[in-house]
Amino acid sequence: MNALRVISILLIVFSLSTVSIASVFGQLPTADKYENLGIRHDSRPNVCLFEPNPTHVDWDYWKAVEIESWKAVLDWQVEMTEFLPEGDWSMYIHSTVPYEEHWNKTPDDYRHCNIFLTYEAWSEGREDMALGLTGIDFADSRHKFTYIVIFLHAEERNNIVIDLGSMKENNEGKYEFVFDKKQLPLNTIYNIVLHEVGHGLGLGHYWSTQEDDYKRSALIPSLKPFDEDINFEITIADKFQLGRLYGLDGFQKPQPVWIPDHCLFDHGLRSLGCY
Ligand SMILES: [Zn+2]
Repeated sequence: MNALRVISILLIVFSLSTVSIASVFGQLPTADKYENLGIRHDSRPNVCLFEPNPTHVDWDYWKAVEIESWKAVLDWQVEMTEFLPEGDWSMYIHSTVPYEEHWNKTPDDYRHCNIFLTYEAWSEGREDMALGLTGIDFADSRHKFTYIVIFLHAEERNNIVIDLGSMKENNEGKYEFVFDKKQLPLNTIYNIVLHEVGHGLGLGHYWSTQEDDYKRSALIPSLKPFDEDINFEITIADKFQLGRLYGLDGFQKPQPVWIPDHCLFDHGLRSLGCY
C-alpha cells in the first residue's frame, strides 16, 4: 500500500499520540465532550488489513498484532450488538492482504474496502509521536473510505534510564541520547486499533480532564504506550455515541439525517445531549 501518496490526499487526519505534558484545557469544563468526525459509512463497513513490510517487523510479533486487530474490530461488533440488539452491527473483515501484493497499490485498487487498516514500523518524520492515524477520503462518491495507519514501534521516553546503552558518542566526541524504538506491547496495539477503528467509523475524540479518562472512552486522544496496565474498553459513552451516529438499525441503513457535531457526557456515564 502506497501510504505516503494516500496520506497526502486525505482531507482530515486524526491521530492518537503519546501523552503530552501540557494540558489541553485552560479551565475545567463541567462535562466531557465527545466529538464526531462528520462522516459515517452508508453501507456495511468492510475492513481490510494490509500486512506491513516484513523486513521492518518481526514476523511472530506481526501475527500477534493481527490477532489483536481482529479482536478490536470484533469487540466493536459484539459490544454494539449487545447495546442495541435491534441493529445489525456486523462488519466484514477481509483476509489480510500480503505485503508483496499491495506495496505498490493504492486504495483505488481495493474498492471493496471502506476501512483500511494498515501498519508501519514507526512514524517516520513525525514529531508528535503518533501511535496511530486515521484519514478520511469521502470525496469520491463511488469509493468513500477511512484509512488507518497503526505504528508498531515507539521511542520509550517515559522512563529514561541513563546508562551506557542509552548514550552514544557522535563525531564531535560529544554524547547524545539515543532513543531506541521498541515494539509496542500488545495491550497498546489493541488500544490503538480499538481507538482508530472508532475514528474509522466516524467517532471523534472524547475530551475529559480526568486522569483515568481511558475508563470513560476508547477515544481519548492520548495514551502512555508502554504502560501494560492500560486496557481500553468500549464504554457506555462510546456505544451511545456510535448508536447516535448510525441509529437503531446499525450499519445497514444509517437512520438519523443529522450528524451531531458533538455530545456531552456526565462522567462518561450519562448523555447530556447532542449539538
Ligand atoms: Zn484519535
